[in-house]
Amino acid sequence: MSDLTRRHVLAAAGAAPLVFAAGSALAQTAEGQPMPAGAAPQPAPPGERMGWAIVGLGSYGINQVIPGFADARQSKMTAFVSGNPAKARDLGARHGVSRFYDYANYDTMKDNEAIDCVYIVLPVGLHAEYTIRALEAGKHVMCEKPMASTSAECEAMVAAARANGRQLGIGYRVHFEPHNREALRRIKAGEIGAMRYIQCDHGFNASLDYPPHKWRLDKVLGGGGSMYDVGIYGINTSLMMLEGDTPKAVSAIYAYPRDDPRFAEVEGGIDWRMTMASGINVQGSSSYCYGPYASRQRYFGAEASIIMDPATTYYDNALAIEGGGQPRREIGAGNSREQFAAQLDGFSEAARANRPHLTPGEMGLRDLRLMEAMYRSADAGGAVIEL
Ligand code: NDP
Repeated sequence: MSDLTRRHVLAAAGAAPLVFAAGSALAQTAEGQPMPAGAAPQPAPPGERMGWAIVGLGSYGINQVIPGFADARQSKMTAFVSGNPAKARDLGARHGVSRFYDYANYDTMKDNEAIDCVYIVLPVGLHAEYTIRALEAGKHVMCEKPMASTSAECEAMVAAARANGRQLGIGYRVHFEPHNREALRRIKAGEIGAMRYIQCDHGFNASLDYPPHKWRLDKVLGGGGSMYDVGIYGINTSLMMLEGDTPKAVSAIYAYPRDDPRFAEVEGGIDWRMTMASGINVQGSSSYCYGPYASRQRYFGAEASIIMDPATTYYDNALAIEGGGQPRREIGAGNSREQFAAQLDGFSEAARANRPHLTPGEMGLRDLRLMEAMYRSADAGGAVIEL
């Protein structure tokens, strides 16, 4: 029986009770210990996190934005804004959210101190109005991409943020995605040599029968077509990798079947080119006619190239380097899923310090101006538009 002094044992027979070595000099004792040295950083206590209201409980809001809070460390959801109260209450019960607003009483959020930040996840045509109303209610605003329907709306949003002393960020999650951050790090470190050329394609097949696609095909709610919805990933992500360089000229041509009933109001595809001050060309395409889904970025350097396929998806981006005298290397950079919480916490920290977010309203405005110039070019049959 000597080992009874070291561990718990069952008595020899049947269902006899556990026997513990109480009273022994070597008895096991459960005792709390200090926080381990080198413990991982812990999330902020709920009372210290920034409180967020989510506006528009649709597919992106429910499937990506809300789950992102589970991994967030500085951010928590405190309210839902929806035109469908039953859906909002059902989701609230599941996610511990108990304050609800609709689009009519939205402005009364100003009286709710539990809301620091408002996340606009509405159709594009509604972004400007709901962003400006939230800023005027004294809240910081994260608005989904594209920022708005027109650059004039974007200018009004940026002005409202300044006038109300609040931060405005745009939902360019790629800036927080580990593979894209790793690509940026390697490009900056010179691993592909001088950047020579960027190619990108983004698209999917839009369906009039699927409600989240239906508003995208409506000019008033969608703002524009495939360029607004997915071409913007190519523009924004390429410019992220060309940090410090500036677009100087753009050109574009429409590329979609003109008799397709889906594209009565917005363009179904557009091929574009952007020339940077450095002379680098970025060549891209966006489409609502690709199947099943394209999300590709390729960075051609003087010595090697980085291939990202897919490049801007939610969960499974990939990064590889080709050339430089070595076989193609696949680079593991982390879990793409991290981008959602990283974006939320990045904005929470910026809002708490009242300093600009990594992807501020001015960046959304820049991209709207570029897209408008590309449409002007396409309307003129591909003319080069100097910026
Ligand atoms: P959905 O159509 O799935 O959801 C939009 C939600 O907005 C609706 O569920 C509804 O919420 C609300 N809404 C209010 N008025 C209208 C209206 N007139 N028509 C339709 N919906 C309305 O769209 P998504 O979630 O796909 O897109 C929302 C935003 O997120 C867009 O700006 C889009 O560009 C962006 N997005 C960003 C992505 C990214 O990766 N960053 C990916 C996908 C989308 P309720 O019923 O609660 O009122």
